[in-house]
Amino acid sequence: MSMLSIAAYFPWSRVKVVEHNVVQASRSALVRLEPDRRFRPLCHVCGQPAPAVHSNTRKFVRDLPFGDCSMLLQVEHRKVWCPTCGGVRVEKLDFVDAYQRITRRLADYAAELCRRGLSVQVVAEHLDLDPKTVKACDKSALEAEFGETRYDGLHRLAVDEIAVKKGHHYMTVVLDYDSGRVVWMGEGRQIATLDAFFEAMPAAVRNEIEAVALDMWEPYIRSVKKWCPQADIVFDLFHVVKAFNKVIDDIRNEEFRKADRDGKATLKGSKYLFLKTWGNLERHQRVRLKDILAMNERLNTVYWLKDFLKHLWEYHIPGWAEAALAEWCGVARQDGHPRLERFARTLERYQYGIVNHCRHRMHTSKLEGVNNKIKVIKRVAYGFHDPEYFALKVKQALPGRLCSN
Ligand SMILES: [Zn+2]
Repeated sequence: MSMLSIAAYFPWSRVKVVEHNVVQASRSALVRLEPDRRFRPLCHVCGQPAPAVHSNTRKFVRDLPFGDCSMLLQVEHRKVWCPTCGGVRVEKLDFVDAYQRITRRLADYAAELCRRGLSVQVVAEHLDLDPKTVKACDKSALEAEFGETRYDGLHRLAVDEIAVKKGHHYMTVVLDYDSGRVVWMGEGRQIATLDAFFEAMPAAVRNEIEAVALDMWEPYIRSVKKWCPQADIVFDLFHVVKAFNKVIDDIRNEEFRKADRDGKATLKGSKYLFLKTWGNLERHQRVRLKDILAMNERLNTVYWLKDFLKHLWEYHIPGWAEAALAEWCGVARQDGHPRLERFARTLERYQYGIVNHCRHRMHTSKLEGVNNKIKVIKRVAYGFHDPEYFALKVKQALPGRLCSN
């Protein structure tokens, strides 16, 4: 046997390598560790020395791969009588937690691979571990870093909901608008969901919140008004346009049903012509859209309203924004379609949040960016069995521009 020692690969105190065995055929290695009897064992609960050994025991622990071999440690260790906490305890070891079956450094490595964007499933396959183990490693590393809600630097917030599962399962996301950091996430999208966030927030921070960007969603609005009455509520163009796109689509379908054969042929498959912005359409698509708009007065009005809706967010002077909004509602009402009438009423009701945009130029691109990132995380975060884990992954992916990752 070579005189070279592999002990340096196991630089842990209170244990020593006494035997190792490599089976080339199965590409596996077994290393046996024994207590270093020069040290008194420590209690894993209180960390105090425990002089009386109760019994000897052993467990098998997975470690980082070694060469091309998977590595299994046979850890001989002791159970002790701890006089400090008064009970039989497992000996404390610095490289593996008392009831874990993988070493800390393997757990750290698994968490690091997850941090770099690999999915739990891929990491589990790569390291030949159970996906549940990999998820637990990643989750505990994330909890240490992102488990506590940080309230520092909050002045302007953006609140949004994300659909996490089919069948109306939502989570609420709170973003620090200025840094882009995801501050908090909670299950659901009720008033109680957002209340829980504000309730835990120190009053001094709460009183300093200047503005909150939202969808026109009553539960969120009520929660913000209750906890931060001084904050300006700003409605987000992205969500308003999305809501209006639904109106356009319904009206377009209705017009399709009413049309004669030629009209149906012209309207068929035109959904995306209406939803895309003019600038993103190909030349032939523009020609087609112009034909449709020339043919159908109602669709022409609806298209104009869609375009003009965006302009309501471009004003800097509240009076002008108000006048433009009144004009929008006038055109919508002139058409007389009940969906347009209802949308006009909604805009009037929430006028304050549109006009507030003149003072707080809060744009939508950040929320859209968050949504796109979240879609990626959905694929790597091992499903949605654990909303807490998902929230931690989102916080890790969106740490804000002030603290680089
Ligand atoms: Zn103890």
